[in-house]
Amino acid sequence: MTETGPLDNMLAQMEQAREYVDIDDGIFERLKYPERTLSVSLPVRMDDGSVEVFDAYRCQFDGARGPFKGGIRFHPTVSEEEVQALAGWMTWKTALVDLPFGGAKGGIICQPKELSQSEIEQLTRRYTEGIRRIIGPDTDIPAPDVNTNPRTMAWIMDTYSVYQGYAVPEIVTGKPLEVGGTAGRVEATGRGVTIITEETFEYLGTDVAQADVAIQGFGNVGSVTARLLHERGANVVAVSDVTGAVYDPSGLDVPDVSAYVENNDGRLEGYPDAEFITNDDLLTLDVDALIPAAIEDVITVDVADRLEADVVVEAANGPTTFDAAAVLRDRDVPVVPDILANAGGVIVSYLEWVQNSQQYSWELEEVNRDLEARLTEAFDEMLAAYEGKDIPDLRTAAYTIALERTADAHEYRGLFP
Ligand code: GLU
Repeated sequence: MTETGPLDNMLAQMEQAREYVDIDDGIFERLKYPERTLSVSLPVRMDDGSVEVFDAYRCQFDGARGPFKGGIRFHPTVSEEEVQALAGWMTWKTALVDLPFGGAKGGIICQPKELSQSEIEQLTRRYTEGIRRIIGPDTDIPAPDVNTNPRTMAWIMDTYSVYQGYAVPEIVTGKPLEVGGTAGRVEATGRGVTIITEETFEYLGTDVAQADVAIQGFGNVGSVTARLLHERGANVVAVSDVTGAVYDPSGLDVPDVSAYVENNDGRLEGYPDAEFITNDDLLTLDVDALIPAAIEDVITVDVADRLEADVVVEAANGPTTFDAAAVLRDRDVPVVPDILANAGGVIVSYLEWVQNSQQYSWELEEVNRDLEARLTEAFDEMLAAYEGKDIPDLRTAAYTIALERTADAHEYRGLFP
């Protein structure tokens, strides 16, 4: 069986939820199409003097509830369709956690590992110039995603500000503290995944201090999640990156793994104090929770058939294919959906944007308290929908809330012109 890509998955998830929520046909039809996708080609002068042209996109999916919001990724698998799916997921995510935002996403097709710092800077600045016609502090606010970070956001903020003629920190979130970033943003997505994993364990009656957890991906989200769950007493038995997975059934020494990766060019390869297994082995470990924290479509039907975790908590966007989700539902393996589990990042992005708009800054404790309150409320709302409406799975329950909120905004605003 060939499985569908991220955009078809996203649309199928919407269709599935539609049965459980009363939405006007015309409005539902509008929700299926991105408002716009800008495609740009970016000529960049490489270090050797040659010129290379990169393809890139910014998709604004739905803006009924507020300015568009979503990250920018640098990855070889970026495509127009992928960016549209990710922008759709941002729309449902911001609606589910009730932020006054719509959904967007951007991406540049490139392999950042093969580019120098200065080439990445030129590419980022040229991309910002390419999309500055459609982004803005009140229209569309980018943020970090796969392979982008505070440094990248500072270049975007600088390039946009130079064209405006004055500093515009609120054009982008996830900035370094020195140029208007907020305390807690770098950790926010991993902290959110940890909060949601703990809530899920509580719901399932699993003690976090007795729990075995496997995490696929050791970038910003995976590594922070591993550290915070380890600090809460969980046994993080396996983590992985593109070089493979490390496994220790008695629990990895997560700070030691992180220190090794930091001194090893960002790679797990060669870590001496654990067994090496494949990424496929990691996905099928018998653990209390499996946390995919890398990219889309890693839990396929084949993996879902063999998966032995008691629950999947989606830290990545779109890690489970639509067909794989059906297999897991039949096997009674709950999947806590991405649009809730990884919403911590965009929640703290919202708090950063609010602080920038008020020229004011909050303490870390205040940011973390607000993050936790919003996430636990959304978790409770999702569970109430799941249990109250006889809905087949948690993702569908989350979608009914998100679709209803977005559809209501369209209903009130009407169709104009
Ligand atoms: N890229 C993150 C996500 O997928 C964060 C987006 C944002 O902060 O705007 O949710």
